Amino acid sequence: MLDHQNIKNLAFGLGFDLCGIARCRHMVDNEDHYRHWIDRGWQSSLGYMERNADKRFDPRRLVEGARTAVVCAVAYKSRISEGYPPQHRTRVASYAATTDYHTTLRELLRRLLDALRERYPDLRGRAFVDTAPLCEKQLAVDAGLGWIGRQSLLVTPRFGTFVLVGELLLTDEADSYDSPLEGVGCGACRRCLDACPTGAVSEERMIDTARCISCHTVEQAPAAEIDLHGWIFGCDACQNCCPYNRRAPMHHNTAFDPVFDPLAMNADEWLAMDDAEFERRCGRTPLTRSGLERIRRNVLRNRECPEASEQE
Ligand code: SF4
Ligand code: SF4
Repeated sequence: MLDHQNIKNLAFGLGFDLCGIARCRHMVDNEDHYRHWIDRGWQSSLGYMERNADKRFDPRRLVEGARTAVVCAVAYKSRISEGYPPQHRTRVASYAATTDYHTTLRELLRRLLDALRERYPDLRGRAFVDTAPLCEKQLAVDAGLGWIGRQSLLVTPRFGTFVLVGELLLTDEADSYDSPLEGVGCGACRRCLDACPTGAVSEERMIDTARCISCHTVEQAPAAEIDLHGWIFGCDACQNCCPYNRRAPMHHNTAFDPVFDPLAMNADEWLAMDDAEFERRCGRTPLTRSGLERIRRNVLRNRECPEASEQE
């Protein structure tokens, strides 16, 4: 039987800011919400979101015999997370200015699993960071880390939404489990709905990805009609406004320090960059998923929309 407190002590010792333990279950409540989103067609071109829906809401279908989910999060708020001046037209989401979290978090989770195996040599399990079809946000809610906000992100009381989440799915039982937080939530706040420049956030905690700038700059080529509102990779507008983020402390885990400063860069600098310079500055960050050519195209798109900069 896994010692709940020992797991948390190890996780905090490795540099995680939050850790909760949830029982693996079929998250049927969340599945209904998700199917409603798919029925609306709001996954738009993110076709992969339609696949493996049965696995997404039952971790036991990803790891056979999984009983325990250890959900860990690291806070990454930096100066970039506080937003850009209105005239800034080469904005990068703040998570993207750090080393790719898939690499960093996976390494931390691997070390946590290794540490657990020293105490429990027969322990079976796997680490996941945002790549498998798994509803990580609901697992985080089950583990008592926070709630799902109106812009459909995990909101944590202390660190807001500027957290990166990963988990271990383990086959052993734990001696106790966390529960969802009580007495917390968005209340009457609707700032993220009002702040989204394209109206992609709906009342029902859903995002219309066809209108979401982050999806257009990261996952797919921007549609001709969409104004990127100054963003060239990702978009933090529905997070910058969140009161929980405003009062959140800056990150302290140095693995999540920004490796370049998009606040200090302008369109000319991005357009003048060659592949070698891009690799040198941004090579460890998620920007390389898009590549320099697409980033340049987004820079040019923002130059074509000068009216938007005056409105913001
Ligand atoms: S990421 Fe940007 S475009 Fe997408 S929902 Fe949030 S504010 Fe809207
Ligand atoms: S901005 Fe307000 S409504 Fe949106 S997630 Fe934050 S607290 Fe909830």
